[in-house]
Amino acid sequence: MAPDISAPPAPLRLRIDRQALVGNWRALDRLSPGARAGAAVKANAYGTGARIVTAALAEAGCQDFFVAHWQEAAEIVDLAAPDAIAVLHGPATAADAQWARSHGVRPVINSLHQARLWHEAGGGPCHLMVDTGINRLGVPMADLGDPVLAGLDIDILLSHLASADEADSPLNAAQQRRWTEARGQMTCLRASLANSAGIVLGAAYHGQVTRPGLALYGGVPCAALAPYICPVVQPQAMILQVRALKPGDSVGYNATFHATRPMRVGVVSVGYADGYLRTWSGRGSARFDGVALPVLGRISMDMTVIDLGSSAAREGDWVSIDYDLPAAAVASGLSQYELLTLLGTRWTRE
Ligand SMILES: *Cc1c(COP(=O)(O)O)cnc(C)c1O
Repeated sequence: MAPDISAPPAPLRLRIDRQALVGNWRALDRLSPGARAGAAVKANAYGTGARIVTAALAEAGCQDFFVAHWQEAAEIVDLAAPDAIAVLHGPATAADAQWARSHGVRPVINSLHQARLWHEAGGGPCHLMVDTGINRLGVPMADLGDPVLAGLDIDILLSHLASADEADSPLNAAQQRRWTEARGQMTCLRASLANSAGIVLGAAYHGQVTRPGLALYGGVPCAALAPYICPVVQPQAMILQVRALKPGDSVGYNATFHATRPMRVGVVSVGYADGYLRTWSGRGSARFDGVALPVLGRISMDMTVIDLGSSAAREGDWVSIDYDLPAAAVASGLSQYELLTLLGTRWTRE
């Protein structure tokens, strides 16, 4: 345990627009009129802060939260009803199953082995993941008749789409068909198939619960969702120092940028250790008073140098990093999922 000494706030912060987050959830909820939208809050709510997001969405009326790990369930268990939290990886050990039982958190059962672990721990309400074609976690269709599954008390029968962001992929309809078939074979209270992009594939994909993640946080996985989704995340960092460059001066590791004229530059407190990867070297930009300030040279671990141009920005001022997810994905070659989940632990999320 680290000593409990409070320190001054970090010179970098992640602004989370709570209203936009809740607005996105409501929009996704409305897009599936027969179903309720849940929320995928795994991986620290895609890097945005699981506690902030869970509290905001629970207050807005969200009733189903999906995490990957048991640790992630523990982190939010005081903010949502324990039985509203589903752990997607399921019980890998008897201890996992026991923990779920004692805290009332719902496991997602992904295999016959996990079903046995759950029975041995005493069982109770759970969810069942069926693999319909992504070949990731989930019970194969061929195993659905196994007696060990017949004894499960299944709340949500889930499956997960491989290509929901490609509306014309034949895999979508094939998976939807198998999911419908699985629902016919198993007894369950509710069914769920759609992630963010799956929601706009239509009512046949909705069941009773949808599981958006990316779109909650401002990601736009497919064009059909674009009109409904607002940006949520705005990274900001402090200017630690302002420097004057002379023509011929270089900037940063390996001197990849050379000034050809006198320049005012700012050293900003964000680097690849914060998830602002080297792919942004010479390519990213920040903003002060709406004016774009291009990144110069290499991104360092904890710092980035930007061209202050004729802006009035000074030491101690905060700049906003250009991080519009769809555009940033195109510019960086990273996926919108990676751009979010990369954001590390040094940010103050507010
Ligand atoms: C991550 C995840 C989701 C959310 O997917 P998005 O594409 O981010 O909307 C839904 N369901 C499962 C099983 C997941 O693992």
